[in-house]
Amino acid sequence: MLKVAKFGGSSMADAGQYQKIRDIIRSDPSRRVVVVSAAGKRSAGDNKITDLLYLCYAHLQYGVSCDGIYQMIRERYGDIHRELGLRVDLEGVLDRLRSQMEQGISRDELVSRGEYLSALLMADYLGFTFVDAAQWLFFHYDGTIDQEKSYAALRALARDKCVVIPGFYGLMPDGKLRTLTRGGSDITGALAAAALDADVYENWTDVDGMLTADPRIVSQAVTIPAITYAELQEMTYQGATVLHEDAVRPAWDAGIPIHICNTFHPEAAGTWIRSENVLHENPVTGVAGRKGFSIILIEKEKMNAMVGYVRKTLSCLEHHQVPFFREQ
Ligand code: ASP
Repeated sequence: MLKVAKFGGSSMADAGQYQKIRDIIRSDPSRRVVVVSAAGKRSAGDNKITDLLYLCYAHLQYGVSCDGIYQMIRERYGDIHRELGLRVDLEGVLDRLRSQMEQGISRDELVSRGEYLSALLMADYLGFTFVDAAQWLFFHYDGTIDQEKSYAALRALARDKCVVIPGFYGLMPDGKLRTLTRGGSDITGALAAAALDADVYENWTDVDGMLTADPRIVSQAVTIPAITYAELQEMTYQGATVLHEDAVRPAWDAGIPIHICNTFHPEAAGTWIRSENVLHENPVTGVAGRKGFSIILIEKEKMNAMVGYVRKTLSCLEHHQVPFFREQ
């Protein structure tokens, strides 16, 4: 039995959270592959490390000192390192990164360092092997993921080992680091689960699972116990944010159930995502909505005898750089 457990930013926010994660990992020996995000917010007014790294990059671009912001990053990870009594050479890594920033660093490489640092510290804390995403998550030149090569590489690196992997980035064919889109550690976790043919992909976050509606709008929203991949994908397209929309496909293709769990409430049942056999008590699984999203209904007489009208309509969207997706 193998579980890939991915922990999001709020689950990784401080030393107390690392302790919760260690309890979760130790409570189930099949949790042998851990994927982590950069440290997220500790409270409402706090900063996410990834946002601070983007800010550092903007300062570097304009030739403005980012010392103050970099110091905040140093302190966040320094506190975790000190409070947990870790031994990994964090200071050395941070000093090297600072001088790399002076010499010129790409935006993707700089912002990927949040996950990198989180994984280094977590690997040390759990006593697991650190496996860098740059060693196995490979992109094609067009920015899509080379699944075959990536899966084979991770299998060689992680089979039968206990490992911690940083989420959110991988390696381009030219040897440069590239990040996924924001929230992309969910995708790394799904790819790792598919590569290693895991029995479950656990996605540990700060809510009890997928809710029937946005609780900020609908106070009676409740956790959905089970949902299909197709339903989940539909809800994420429509704005549900629990899981990155591109994280569903790799797990779906490999037939790996996804379990959304709450690091702050590990005993909660969470939400299970599978391909079928989902019994719903209610005819409606959930409700989601997205602003700036339009539905276009085209009606015209004798459409059945016309050629090329779909292409003409869609090329208009393409011209204006508007993405679309087709209703099933
Ligand atoms: N740290 C990245 C972000 O804030 C990726 C992630 O957390 O999944 O978007």
